[in-house]
Amino acid sequence: MSKYQPTIGLEIHVQLKTKTKMFCDCLNDFQEKRPNINICPICTGQPGTLPVINKKAVEMVIKTGLALSCTIAEESFFERKNYFYPDLPKGYQISQYKIPLCANGKLKIDDREIRIRRIHLEEDTGKLIHSKENFSLVDFNRAGVPLMELVTEPDICSSKEARKFAQELQLILRYLGVSDADMEKGQMRVEANVSLRNKNQRAEKKQVLGTKVEIKNLNSFRAVEKAIEYEIERQEELLERKEKIIQETRGWNETKQKTFSQRTKEEAEDYRYFPEPDLPPLKITANQILKLKSEIPELPAEKRKRFKKEYGLSEKDIEILVNFKPLGNYFEEIISELKEWEKTSLNKKPSKTEVGKLIKLTANYLISELKKYTKNLEEDIRRIKITPENFAEFIILIHQGKISSTGAQITLEEMYKTGADPSHIIKEKNLTQVSDENELEKIIEEIIKNNPQPVQDYKNGKTEALQFLIGQVMKETKGRANPKIVARLFGQKLK
Ligand code: ADP
Ligand code: MG
Ligand code: ZN
Repeated sequence: MSKYQPTIGLEIHVQLKTKTKMFCDCLNDFQEKRPNINICPICTGQPGTLPVINKKAVEMVIKTGLALSCTIAEESFFERKNYFYPDLPKGYQISQYKIPLCANGKLKIDDREIRIRRIHLEEDTGKLIHSKENFSLVDFNRAGVPLMELVTEPDICSSKEARKFAQELQLILRYLGVSDADMEKGQMRVEANVSLRNKNQRAEKKQVLGTKVEIKNLNSFRAVEKAIEYEIERQEELLERKEKIIQETRGWNETKQKTFSQRTKEEAEDYRYFPEPDLPPLKITANQILKLKSEIPELPAEKRKRFKKEYGLSEKDIEILVNFKPLGNYFEEIISELKEWEKTSLNKKPSKTEVGKLIKLTANYLISELKKYTKNLEEDIRRIKITPENFAEFIILIHQGKISSTGAQITLEEMYKTGADPSHIIKEKNLTQVSDENELEKIIEEIIKNNPQPVQDYKNGKTEALQFLIGQVMKETKGRANPKIVARLFGQKLK
């Protein structure tokens, strides 16, 4: 046990998925590869131009705030954050400082609540492309893209928890449809503040936090976890040697898996914030908030609970279905088809355990089996050829013993490739499982007659002989005999 307790706070930037930029009509298109295509006098900071607030971007931030239990400011305003950098054409970034749009939220990670200090709206910068020669190029396609910044309180206590927080936030943003939040694409960027405090210094009433270090350039969830882990160890070593932690900004070197110093506190800039004179204050009415609230879909945490309660699935299956919304939706469409079948089924009403079995079968074939035919199930599910009706029918055929498990594999593969009806496939490929006892009995009698030695062996107590006899039946039926029924019939006949 280390005598130091890590304290972590995250600052997360997210590009919003609006059609146009934050303050002009230029397209917000991260896929545009040609430089300086989506630019205009406003987002390149020409004199005399006026910004106009993108309403959709404001709504997206409010939705995010509501999803994270924040208070929404009735009135907030934009400010100018002044600094000089070649990717910032105006010489300032329009941001929010004194009053953010959302504040005082929370997000539960496992059983711990992480408080969210604020979420505000700002604009992204352009991109510099450094050439090998002694010049750099600038691309302003990204300049002015709506950017949301979320800041947590220093409530996170491990690198794993920080990673989970970022992943859960990404999932929520995707559910809300406000951002794809892909870290590798720079749509979500995480900065981690890390400090250590001595656990034994409890004597003081007020727990004082240690000096923090801020880590930038974290481009993946793995990097978030690894960089924090590294930083905790680095600081621990310093403290053990009775050295002081310097408050500084550090970068993350992916190749070396190490953080390195970028700039210290003394070099910190003064941004000379002041209210943006070209924009009116942001006034949000109670009705607007109500309307946005009503547009929030079921969020991951609720969905996990519901999937557990309604379907009794394993934690692992739930995680897969919840983490990829289209897959979860597809699963639920199949289940609702199965429910239709249960209702109209001519047989007696299926029992609760029977329903449970159908759900388990669906989860199993959807998650584990289908994966065998696809490189990326999560992507493929968006354009899968199998209709939910056909998938449900397939599950029912298995449940009723009309296809064997080998037959099911072949059928599923064919359905996946062609989208064909499962009952057609099993007819065409002769995959129907033989469960007819009269038919099987005839074959079994034949096998008994032709294999006196194994039959004798079995009667003498050699149980392996039964496997051989069943194997003979399978051979005779080209694998189509229902093995459970065959085993039972042999048992009856060889008593
Ligand atoms: P600064 O003024 O240096 O930007 P802030 O108080 O604004 O610091 O906090 C920025 C981020 O750093 C927040 O996410 C916050 O939770 C986190 N943070 C603040 N103090 C500490 C600390 N001692 N250790 C770890 N994280 C911290
Ligand atoms: Mg700060
Ligand atoms: Zn523009």
